[in-house]
Amino acid sequence: SIPLGYFGGIGAASRHGILFKGSNFLDTLATIQQVVMDKTGTLTKGVFTVQDIFISEEFDRDEVLAWTNALERNSTHPVATAIHDYAGPVDEALRLEEIEEIAGYGLRAMLDGKELLVGNFKLLDRFGVKYDVSIGNTAQTLVAVGYSGQFAGYLTIADEIKPDATKAIRELKALGVTPTMLSGDRTTVVREVADSLNISQAYGDLLPEDKAEKIKEMKASNCRIAFVGDGVNDAPVVALSDVGIAMGGLGSDATIETADVVIQDDMPSKIPVAIRIGRATRRIVW
Ligand code: ADP
Ligand code: MG
Repeated sequence: SIPLGYFGGIGAASRHGILFKGSNFLDTLATIQQVVMDKTGTLTKGVFTVQDIFISEEFDRDEVLAWTNALERNSTHPVATAIHDYAGPVDEALRLEEIEEIAGYGLRAMLDGKELLVGNFKLLDRFGVKYDVSIGNTAQTLVAVGYSGQFAGYLTIADEIKPDATKAIRELKALGVTPTMLSGDRTTVVREVADSLNISQAYGDLLPEDKAEKIKEMKASNCRIAFVGDGVNDAPVVALSDVGIAMGGLGSDATIETADVVIQDDMPSKIPVAIRIGRATRRIVW
């Protein structure tokens, strides 16, 4: 039978909006050594706003924006939301075909028989579209557009760090747990967020499979890991971790389903709270 202390722990956690899917996860979380976090939607709000738009000479600004908006309608990624919010209603006259979302890269479709790409610069590389490499030297998230094999331009978008993220990192360190950040966003952006939160281990430009590889490396050195993600593209890493934690507000259904623990209000400061409840429960049970 399950000791009474576990029910107490699960109840205490749920009063903080932290849902444990089993008492065993309270136990594991109590002994976790490293908390690996996604950047977008976990430590940052995951709400991007468009800042600037740069269009290549041979292209028309309104047209490129309309294409981008029409293609992003097919994605639930926070980047896509930023584009809809900025560009408004989609031009229904645009006929997109063969639409595909490529996790960690962006979107691809055919428009008037020509290839349209909207995503990061890795997406343009993958489909052989050339661009001026000096564009990469900013600490901003970029959304690049390629059309018919040509670089059509890019948008810069910005996100904000969550107000309680600093507290979350400080408390994790006080508990003797190492905070680590993994992100598919550009390394320059990831470094800036990591520096402002005092996170010394941070990795950017990671594809979903690279994130999984990093988790495997950490586990190979006998480290017990909790992974915290916001959802989009995170289900595989959540499944690989000793404890998978999902932010419930923004999270995708797949990630919430796979997660062992769900933080309903998306506050990163609930991560150290959950660890403390896990440790207190252990002291009562053992
Ligand atoms: P993260 O949540 O860490 O940013 P993701 O794997 O969700 O990681 O995304 C990685 C990167 O892929 C994003 O930072 C963005 O540059 C690009 N990307 C993903 N989906 C889209 C999309 N719908 N539109 C534009 N870019 C995208
Ligand atoms: Mg993500």
